[in-house]
Amino acid sequence: MRTFQAKKLDEAIALALAHVAPIAETETLPTTDSLGRVLAEDIICPEDVPGFARSAMDGYAVRASETHGASRERPVLLKIIGSVEMGQDPRTLPSVHAGEACEIPTGGPMPDGADAVVMLEETERQNNQSVRLFAEVTPGAHVLSADSDFQRGELVFRAGHKLRAVDIGALIAMGILSVKIYRRVRVSLISTGSELVEAEHAIRPGQVRQINSHILRHLLEGAQGISLGIVPDDRERLRATIQHAVRESDMVLLSGGSSVGARDWTLDLLQELGEVLVHGLQIKPGKPTIFAVVDKKPVIGLPGNPVSCVLVFEKFVRPVLARRSGLRVLLPAHRLASAQLTQTVHSALGREEFVAIRLRLDESLGTLYAEPVLGHSNNISTLARADGILRVPSEFEEIPAGAQVWVELL
Ligand code: AMP
Ligand code: MG
Repeated sequence: MRTFQAKKLDEAIALALAHVAPIAETETLPTTDSLGRVLAEDIICPEDVPGFARSAMDGYAVRASETHGASRERPVLLKIIGSVEMGQDPRTLPSVHAGEACEIPTGGPMPDGADAVVMLEETERQNNQSVRLFAEVTPGAHVLSADSDFQRGELVFRAGHKLRAVDIGALIAMGILSVKIYRRVRVSLISTGSELVEAEHAIRPGQVRQINSHILRHLLEGAQGISLGIVPDDRERLRATIQHAVRESDMVLLSGGSSVGARDWTLDLLQELGEVLVHGLQIKPGKPTIFAVVDKKPVIGLPGNPVSCVLVFEKFVRPVLARRSGLRVLLPAHRLASAQLTQTVHSALGREEFVAIRLRLDESLGTLYAEPVLGHSNNISTLARADGILRVPSEFEEIPAGAQVWVELL
């Protein structure tokens, strides 16, 4: 069996990404149902939005040139030729000529001829026929142009953009009622280990409740997790399950059995079924990680220790899943907290380390403290008790107590 040298995390990600393509299938969905989905097409704005010039203020629509020199001391008197109603077709409005003004509400369509709005607060109505203006305005003042929101022909979103609530509003504002998106990526989840039991069953000493697939399924977010249950450390059964998973899904995540122990079959099987590109990451926890490609689909062996499994998912699988999902931006934007480290964190050179952190706010001083949560990576309590993760770069041997650090919130 070929042996591998552990890779730096970023090198491993780059190598994996070079072997992963976005899924080919797309679907068309009503825009309102596309929250969180990934666009499979560029969105070019089909029409100017709002499509007509609107007033941004309550006031009077005028020709800016008519207001020249207007002030409290020397008001300009204009004739009122009408009043704009909300929703009125601007083509039915009278044109504003020199010496004229038209009353207009916020959002009302600008009448022909007018190129600016004088705010109501800067005016005084004489009678029903005329209005005094106390301020000079320049062309365009308090007017939203017909293309002020979006311009026809503008590239609004690129393919690979994940739609947020505000984007759905923007699409509907442009009159785009359906969108082409990538179908959801199907991710098979396999747990391996003869000691594992599903939580519905009673356990006896020596057995362990399987939790990794449950965690992973919820970390997948936009992708669809397919739990294939527990496979014992049995080469043939694991082979059959991996083959089934590769046929039925777009990506496979195995947890457990990724080291080189006598009962660890994942590496051996993935070498037989496809091509293994990575075995071993220079990170802690998370070293025994495998990246393979089987039938052009990524198959990833994650460590069984739950804490390692979660960290490898976040740091290594996340970008691979993003690429497979069609996303352009492959690394998530983390929410970060700046906090003061309460005790020195030690780390081996040449290895990136991830430390679970609990945040504590000292109310009187207003200082946020970062307390390392020390615990074995087999214990999920290490993460359950933590608020975030501190990354110690590979070239650091320690981060001293008192240092101000960034904590990635979980
Ligand atoms: P392995 O990576 O197979 O050597 O497993 C490392 C440790 O993680 C062992 O103590 C396993 O019992 C534990 N483990 C593996 N898979 C899971 C799982 N799905 N849920 C909980 N613990 C697991
Ligand atoms: Mg095992």
